[in-house]
Amino acid sequence: MRVAIQGTHGAFSEAAARRRWPELEAIPCREVADAVAAVREGRADAGCLPIENSLIGSVTATYDLLHEAFGDGTLALTHETLLPVHHTIMAVPGARVEDIRRVYSHPVALGQCRRWLSKHLPNAELVSAWDTAGSAEMVAAHGDPTEAAIAALPAAAAHGLVPLAERIEDDPTNQTRFLIFSRQGAPAAPAGSGPFKTSLIVSLDHRPGMLAHTLLAFSARGVNLTALQSRPEPSAPWTYRFYVDVEGAATEPRVAEALEEVEALAAQLIILGSYEAWTEGVPSFQIFHPTPAHHVKKPDIPLIDRRRAPQGSIVKVRHLEFGGASPVLIAGPCSVESREMILETADAVASAGGDMLRGGAFKPRTSPYDFQGLGVKGLRYLAEARERTGLPIVTEVLSWEEVPLVAHFADMLQIGARNMQNFSLLRAAARSGVPVLLKRGAGATIEEWLMAAEYVLAEGNPNVVLCERGIRTFERATRHTLDLNAVVLVRERSHLPVVVDPSHAAGVASLVTPLAEASLAAGAAGLIVEVHPNPKQAMSDGPQSLDIPMFIDLARRVHPDLERRKVRPLTA
Ligand code: PEP
Ligand code: MN
Repeated sequence: MRVAIQGTHGAFSEAAARRRWPELEAIPCREVADAVAAVREGRADAGCLPIENSLIGSVTATYDLLHEAFGDGTLALTHETLLPVHHTIMAVPGARVEDIRRVYSHPVALGQCRRWLSKHLPNAELVSAWDTAGSAEMVAAHGDPTEAAIAALPAAAAHGLVPLAERIEDDPTNQTRFLIFSRQGAPAAPAGSGPFKTSLIVSLDHRPGMLAHTLLAFSARGVNLTALQSRPEPSAPWTYRFYVDVEGAATEPRVAEALEEVEALAAQLIILGSYEAWTEGVPSFQIFHPTPAHHVKKPDIPLIDRRRAPQGSIVKVRHLEFGGASPVLIAGPCSVESREMILETADAVASAGGDMLRGGAFKPRTSPYDFQGLGVKGLRYLAEARERTGLPIVTEVLSWEEVPLVAHFADMLQIGARNMQNFSLLRAAARSGVPVLLKRGAGATIEEWLMAAEYVLAEGNPNVVLCERGIRTFERATRHTLDLNAVVLVRERSHLPVVVDPSHAAGVASLVTPLAEASLAAGAAGLIVEVHPNPKQAMSDGPQSLDIPMFIDLARRVHPDLERRKVRPLTA
């Protein structure tokens, strides 16, 4: 294996390549571009170049070279390595630190030893050289005891120098990442078993959101980014190209799909290669990585089917269990209207014996002129209410773009009736890993509702609670018609817990408690009801909201053992 390296024998690039191939033959090259040429022309089988240092950051010369050298598809990245980097300052035998007037090294190495140099040699001239080992060679050739070189320790012995001080880098964790490349189709080095990374260069039109949409192509599919770097486009001042590293090989379905989308968006996409990621000593950032649903094979029995869990499944939300021994009582206002209002309601819900707090921060309103919710502020107030009362929170998420934000605060994501068949939202909610409360659409059949739940399960998230909230019928005396058939039927067909929202079903507060009791009798695993400290003043759904005394009455009926429960005191 002949590997072109930047620098001479003993250079860090050589040590890095030897981590892969201990027996390699190093082909020294003066510049990074020469290493590329050596591989292109077949004088070397592979090249190894530094790309990023943990102390001083990107090796911009390598980044710029990647664009020039890889654009025509002749070369591809095949490996990466990480090398711990320790520096030694060395000079001719007999030299003393206090006599050194000039220090040679590669600028990257000088940058990594800044603190030691300013402490011990504040007046020395720092001279950039093409290579660390090359500067040791030069100092040896000059034979001048006022000159020193900074290089790896073995370079001292190799050039007849002696170390003056070792490990002089600014931080002991100092390490450099190297990329190894070869000609496409050249005999592949051992492939390894992964995990893999893919590196790309993306050029984008100068329009709002282009970078965001490029990155969304990955995040929407649960593909993790490991590096992002921008470099100027030389011929177009103040425009940039982006270097992106992602987890996964370009052939993996979710990465392939994301790349297809990026290619459609970008002015130019260069795939530099997919290669085995270096894992030794690297913290694992691997997170929830589901396979996209349409790559999942259709199961013989749907995932929601009761036959898969005849005893019924339990969905946990913090300490609560939907489908467990006791019904879960969720209560709170339709909308979070202010900090004071949600804290007051949360205190009342907790002390009355409610189990969980609801409240919309993002509201789906029929009219664009109606109150749309407090957004992020509303989420923060809900989180504060949880801190104070211990009640887990459920809140609605309206669009897939907002899933990461809402999932950051919520213990459970509510998918509203209007969004029941918003499949990209279902997928994104599933991928968040947070339990989902899936409301039935006002015009959705039971079959459509269950298939919407199937989307979440197929995406790898088993924690779905169904919610019957009334359907639209010819009857206008109530807001909707509570379909208790559905509660019983869904329990027969599916193992997923089903809860009932009598508030939206009825639209009138006086009907809520009787419907709640009927729902529990029909086998509901819980209830979600709207409560407001002053329903007449509510900014949404006032007529159907229980006031606090009505809620206390309902809570007593749902949890008849309430007296024995520890009721948290109302706090100021
Ligand atoms: C709500 O819970 O406030 C809500 C908007 O519910 P639905 O989606 O059932 O109409
Ligand atoms: Mn409501």
